[in-house]
Amino acid sequence: MLAVVPPPVTVRVPAKVNLHLSVGDLREDGYHELVTVFQALSLTDEVTVAVTEEPGLEIYGEGEGSVPADGTNLAWRAAEALAAHVGRGEPKVRIVLRKGIPAAGGMAGGSADAAATLVGLASLWNLDITRDELAEIAAGLGSDVPFALYGGTALGTGRGEQLVPVLSRHTFHWVLAFDAEGLSTPKVFKELDRLRVDGNPPRIGSHTPVVEALASGDPRQLALLLGNDLQAAAVSLRPGLRRTLRAGVNAGALAGTVSGSGPTCAFLCEDAQTAVEVAAELSGAGVCRTVRVAHGPVPGARVVGGDDAP
Ligand code: ATP
Repeated sequence: MLAVVPPPVTVRVPAKVNLHLSVGDLREDGYHELVTVFQALSLTDEVTVAVTEEPGLEIYGEGEGSVPADGTNLAWRAAEALAAHVGRGEPKVRIVLRKGIPAAGGMAGGSADAAATLVGLASLWNLDITRDELAEIAAGLGSDVPFALYGGTALGTGRGEQLVPVLSRHTFHWVLAFDAEGLSTPKVFKELDRLRVDGNPPRIGSHTPVVEALASGDPRQLALLLGNDLQAAAVSLRPGLRRTLRAGVNAGALAGTVSGSGPTCAFLCEDAQTAVEVAAELSGAGVCRTVRVAHGPVPGARVVGGDDAP
């Protein structure tokens, strides 16, 4: 009998920016309790999965020299986790990552690739599986993976993996400044713990005003409320970020924030036109490697050119 090989499946998946990230004290299990408001942005990775006799991973674009192309890659781990969940052996797939999201940039690029791989393989293998079931597997892979599945704007608690959608009444316009090198997320959390032992860096307050600003759709109101407890730690490890943050505001952004554990800086702008102008000025200021314009919220991981994904 002739085996029918299904065609490859490509999934587009968004980066995230944290509009609000409050970090609790270090818990006994080594984790921190987080309260975060994420927004999914039009800055994306594309992940293609294909059936093959020679399983493996190829990486192009952002971080192609530094992101591991072996079994430690989060996309590969996602493939293994889904295969185990549905009782398949080692996945006989080739995964191609086309990365637009900066590696180790605080925008959850690895998590995005894992989410995209789950959605891609669910389609390639024709699995009868819901997005909520995929989200359970996603949560086992990393705390940002479920958000990359759903996208939009959401409140995350726990380690960030317990999600509730947040009403966002507007398209918000962003400029993103990529740094020359990534920052390790665990190192940034450790630096925050150190800063908190030595002193008392300010803590951002409740997330409620941010949620209200999102519902109002007013970027000026939201700009006043952007906050990230990890910012002090990221700036402590990478002092040049202070200059980047200042340059974005000087260029006309309403406000700037370090995204997640950094070092990417995200600047909220009044509208699409202003974002283009801020991006042009920022790229001439010599304070970052690359500048991108993006908008949000956008949907989570989706098969490109198809609507049959779970
Ligand atoms: P976080 O989700 O902690 O904010 P981040 O956005 O700062 O992460 P990622 O791009 O997700 O950073 O990568 C963090 C590390 O994970 C990288 O340094 C890399 O070694 C590893 N990694 C594993 N798989 C991937 C992947 N598919 N893309 C990028 N990095 C990956």
